Amino acid sequence: MESAHPNAGETHQRRFVPFNNPEDLPHRLGPAPSLIGREDHSISRKDIDRDSLRVLYGLKDHNYDAYLVGGAVRDLLMGKTPKDFDVATDARPRDLRRLFRNSREVGRRFRIVHVFFGQKNVECATLRAAVEPNGDNNGELYIEDDNQWGDLETDAYRRDFTINALYYDIRDFSLIDYTGGVRDIAAKIIRCVGDPQVRFREDPVRMLRAIKFAARFNFTFDPDTERALRELQGEILKASRFRVTEEIFRIITQANRTAGLKMLVDFGFMGVLYPDWTVALGEAGIEQVIDYFTAIDKAAEAECYFPLEVITTGLFIPLLDSVDVSRDQFHKVAARVTQEVRSVGNRMDLPKRLVNSAVEILRGQLYLLFFAHQNKRVRRYVSAPFFDLVWRVNQLAFGDLPELAEINEVWLSARKSLGSPIGGTVDSPDRRDIFSFRGKTGGGRHGHTGRRDRRFARDAVLDEVLEGAEDEGFDDESIDQETATWEDGDEAEG
Ligand code: ATP
Ligand code: MG
Repeated sequence: MESAHPNAGETHQRRFVPFNNPEDLPHRLGPAPSLIGREDHSISRKDIDRDSLRVLYGLKDHNYDAYLVGGAVRDLLMGKTPKDFDVATDARPRDLRRLFRNSREVGRRFRIVHVFFGQKNVECATLRAAVEPNGDNNGELYIEDDNQWGDLETDAYRRDFTINALYYDIRDFSLIDYTGGVRDIAAKIIRCVGDPQVRFREDPVRMLRAIKFAARFNFTFDPDTERALRELQGEILKASRFRVTEEIFRIITQANRTAGLKMLVDFGFMGVLYPDWTVALGEAGIEQVIDYFTAIDKAAEAECYFPLEVITTGLFIPLLDSVDVSRDQFHKVAARVTQEVRSVGNRMDLPKRLVNSAVEILRGQLYLLFFAHQNKRVRRYVSAPFFDLVWRVNQLAFGDLPELAEINEVWLSARKSLGSPIGGTVDSPDRRDIFSFRGKTGGGRHGHTGRRDRRFARDAVLDEVLEGAEDEGFDDESIDQETATWEDGDEAEG
């Protein structure tokens, strides 16, 4: 930590004392906020990450305003453990850099400062001004520049949902609620801050975020928000493909993925984003994927988690349906399935490595089906490194089919005879960034994805994009824009 706030004498003389009256807080965009004193809410400092507290107190000690904000406040109010802790402050990026030596500025469209503590970092964002959509963008609302500084109120009103727009003030541990977030958490409602029609057009990825939170917390939508989801799903095509893919993956890798997928289907997002997939699977196929995800959700409730490869493969399971063992030849069917999955998967903007692993695992399903009666093959295949993944997918997708019971018994007993425990699972939910996915079947970093990893993940996003850059005609400039997210630091985590 370095020397005192350079402007301490001027701008921050305003108020050193906590607010004790909501009317003391800025409010021009809406009614005075609710101020919820320490004794009236459940958030305790002992539940807040130590390094985030250090940042909050560091700012406070230099007479800056400092708030814990966003998902962390929401999760703590719900009695959950936050994944990360974001800080909002009136200190500018330059001030933050000066104040915390262990920091780095990231983002262009949305500049934030990461303060590093070993493996992790605390994201500090300067309070933002109200959003002024670009007038010259064909009358569209899409936001390009998001670096106008503002105050607490403007910052609250530009956040996506009321449940994400709560501030925990480090001076007196009170909560500041401009938009009714506390009420909506209690009522389990996802409600846009402001007019959903406008907010979803400004940034269509918010629609996927709405679904992500509704599914994760088992919340319902406020009627206006729901109506906008039903009307505006087509807008999602205007969003960055990379952000879209990230959000879709957060939805299918978090708890209650079945509910998330159902909403994506029902609101029409799968149809709009993945028309080939939707047509190739048909309604019955989509039901099969839903069953597969239900099996994964059930396993997760019993603390059994599967790697990304196993989860993603589920999206393509129905493409095996047309196989007829009595009529087909393995090699022909395998070639057909490979080709189908590749063509559908690649048009879904999935990383190639992930599509490849789905192909391998699906070929594995065919192998199980075709070769259960060839002893030598059985013995060899069960000791292949990826067998366990193939087996897990088999169990999730077909584990309860009586007609496969006999075949599966052959494989299971051969596998058991090896003596080693069956793998293909991970210790904690697989939160690898989809774009940093390295596709070593069954290997790679699992579970824990620290902030540090997320920095590397960003480079991997570029790798992945550059890989496809030639055939798709990307240049560096468009890649930069594509990968810029709302907060630019808004990387994978889900
Ligand atoms: P998670 O638990 O998934 O991290 P989160 O609420 O912390 O949920 P982040 O993506 O980490 O979500 O974003 C942090 C905060 O930034 C959000 O709580 C919200 O206030 C704000 N935010 C993020 N994305 C947007 C967006 N697209 N539009 C408006 N506000 C956003
Ligand atoms: Mg977060």
